[in-house]
Amino acid sequence: MCAEYIGGLHEIAPSTYAYLQPNGSWGWSNAGLIRDGEEALLVDTLFTVELTRRMLATIERALPALDIRLVVNTHGDGDHWWGNQLVSGSTIIASAAAVREMRHAGPAGFTSALEAGKADPRFAELAKLFADFDFRDIAPTYPAIAFAGELEVSVGARTVRLIEVGPAHTEGDVLVHVPDQRVLFTGDILFIGGHPVVHSGPVDRWIEACDLILDLDVKTIVPGHGPVVGKAEVAHFRDYLTRVRDHAVAAHGRGSTVIEATREFDLDGFADLDDNGRLLLNIGAVYRELNGDGTPDERELMPIMHELTRHYETR
Ligand SMILES: [Zn+2]
Repeated sequence: MCAEYIGGLHEIAPSTYAYLQPNGSWGWSNAGLIRDGEEALLVDTLFTVELTRRMLATIERALPALDIRLVVNTHGDGDHWWGNQLVSGSTIIASAAAVREMRHAGPAGFTSALEAGKADPRFAELAKLFADFDFRDIAPTYPAIAFAGELEVSVGARTVRLIEVGPAHTEGDVLVHVPDQRVLFTGDILFIGGHPVVHSGPVDRWIEACDLILDLDVKTIVPGHGPVVGKAEVAHFRDYLTRVRDHAVAAHGRGSTVIEATREFDLDGFADLDDNGRLLLNIGAVYRELNGDGTPDERELMPIMHELTRHYETR
């Protein structure tokens, strides 16, 4: 099932906007905009130059002559910053850990891995996921401001809080909290409609990030992927993470392989989520924490996750 929601720019609270890209699967990320008069802060750019150009044109049509002074990249995954070159006149901010990841894993490595994978049949399904994106002409443009912990910034007379909660999804995840409208942009700390991906972990820290969100005075929550939601969906998402953790710890203790553990996972309550092959990556991430030696490597799990997807579709 695909989460159904309408793409484009939505004013979710006064002068506070979400830019949504259905269906929220691999690379189809959300962004956000907070403004006061002409002055604005953009939350994330998109996966490609073209998608980011389209978003900025949409913003320009709806809100002409806006001055996007600040851009926050919520983390170091390409679908949240590879369009940065189009806002290079703005001050770009991210956590220091996210900037380290950006510098380590840029578009060049990603596209050459995709290219190399074409010769390997195991990567065929993976390559299909990214076939709709045009990764040409990306000039990696890094944040000028890197922070750790918390940072408050001003947008006109409004205050926006940046709260670092990584490592969780990635090494440097940041939440963008807009207290005056009780809005939160979570980046990929929240996935709605599809399984999340645990790249970094620890999963416990991601669960703590959910608890932090549940404790914040917010009512409108924009996930990194999927439709706009409220706290009930965050609580459900937290349940997913705890089930993955508890199941993986028990399966690891029994000596099950990651593939066995993934096949045994109880999807009850989560069966309608897209991208269920990611479960293999998530259980693998818990195994990696428990093993403590870097295994299993995510890059070895990715090519086989589609076999698990088929398993869940046919049973
Ligand atoms: Zn993302």
